[in-house]
Amino acid sequence: MKPTELILYKDHLSYWLRQLRKERELIGPLRGEETDIVFKSVENIHDIVLDLPAILPTVKEFLFPQYEPMFKYLMTDEVVDLRDNTKRVIFGVRSCDVTALTLLDKFFLDGYKDPFYEERRNETVLISIVCGRPEPECFCAGLNTGPYLEKGFDVQLTDLGDRFFVQVGSPKGHSAVMRFSFLFRKPYKADYEDQYEVFLSSKATSQKRISLEGARQLILSGKVKDDFWRMISDKCFECGGCVYQCPLCTCFTVTDRVFGDIIERVRLWDACLFKGFTRLAGGILPNEERYLRTKRWFYHKLIYYPDALNGFGCVGCGRCTIACPTKIDMASVITRLKVTAGSEG
Ligand code: SF4
Ligand code: SF4
Repeated sequence: MKPTELILYKDHLSYWLRQLRKERELIGPLRGEETDIVFKSVENIHDIVLDLPAILPTVKEFLFPQYEPMFKYLMTDEVVDLRDNTKRVIFGVRSCDVTALTLLDKFFLDGYKDPFYEERRNETVLISIVCGRPEPECFCAGLNTGPYLEKGFDVQLTDLGDRFFVQVGSPKGHSAVMRFSFLFRKPYKADYEDQYEVFLSSKATSQKRISLEGARQLILSGKVKDDFWRMISDKCFECGGCVYQCPLCTCFTVTDRVFGDIIERVRLWDACLFKGFTRLAGGILPNEERYLRTKRWFYHKLIYYPDALNGFGCVGCGRCTIACPTKIDMASVITRLKVTAGSEG
C-alpha cells in the first residue's frame, strides 16, 4: 500500500500513545538502571526516551522471546497452552529492525508457519523512528535496510523537531493512526522540505559501506580458505554476544523443565557458535572445532540466508561490532576477508 503521510505534533504524542495503550501493551525505549536504553512495558508515558541513540537493543525478543514457555503438562494428563498472545504496540523501533523482522517473517512464516511467532507478529504494531544520526558502526544505509524505509513499516516517524512526519504503511498502522485522525493533520510543503532535510542528513552521516554481496561472491569463488576462518575464530571465546544482539539470529532449542508435578516445555534462544549446539545422540559433536562454527555463522548470513530466503542475514545494525570484544563482527570480518582473499589473487 502507498504510505499515507501526516503530521503529528509532539504535544499530541503522549495522548496518542495513551489511547493505544488502552488496547495494547505499550513497549517503548526507557532508561535502564544505568544509563542504557531498554525496551520495556511503559507505565509512565513521560518516561519514554525520545532523544535516542542510533543503536538500540533489538526488539526481536517481543516477537521471538529469549525464554518462551510453550505449554505445561500436568500429571492429570491435562495440557495447558502457555502461548503469550499479548497485543502490543512497540514505539521507537529502528528501521533496520523493521527490515530484520520482514526477513524473520520469511524464516518463521514461509512454508511451515510457527504459530507462536505468527500470532505475536499479527498482534504487534511497530512504530519506528527514522534514525537521524547514524553511529560509526552502522552500515544499513549502504544495504538499503535503513535508516529510512520506503515500505515494510506499520508507522514510520521522522523527527522534525516540534513534530513528527508520519508515514502509515500497513493496515495495522492505518488502524493505529486513523482512529485518532483528529490528532494528525496533512503535511504542508514546509513539512516535506524538513523531512527531506532529515533524510539527506541521515544519508550524509551514514558513510560506512560494507558489501555483503561482494563478500558472498568471494566466498563462493573459493578464495576464502579455512585458514581464514581459523585465524578469525582463534580469538572467539564463545560469549554469544554477537548472536544474542543480532536481530536476525534465529537459533533456538526446546527443552522440558520439571517443577514438582508439572512439566513445562520452553523454547530458548541458542547460538550456533556454541560447541554443543549440534550435539548428536551419543555425544558426537559435528562442529567440534571452533573455526567450523564461526564459518557457519558467516555462511549462514552470507550464503544460506540469501539462498533460502532471498535476503542477507544482516541488516547492518552494527550491534555485533559493539558486542564483540575481539572484533569478530560482520563489518570487520568482511573487511579482513577482502584483504585476505584479494591477496590470494
Ligand atoms: S550480523 Fe551484526 S551488523 Fe549484521 S544484523 Fe547481525 S548484529 Fe547487525
Ligand atoms: S561476540 Fe565475538 S567473542 Fe563473543 S561469541 Fe561472538 S564472535 Fe565470539
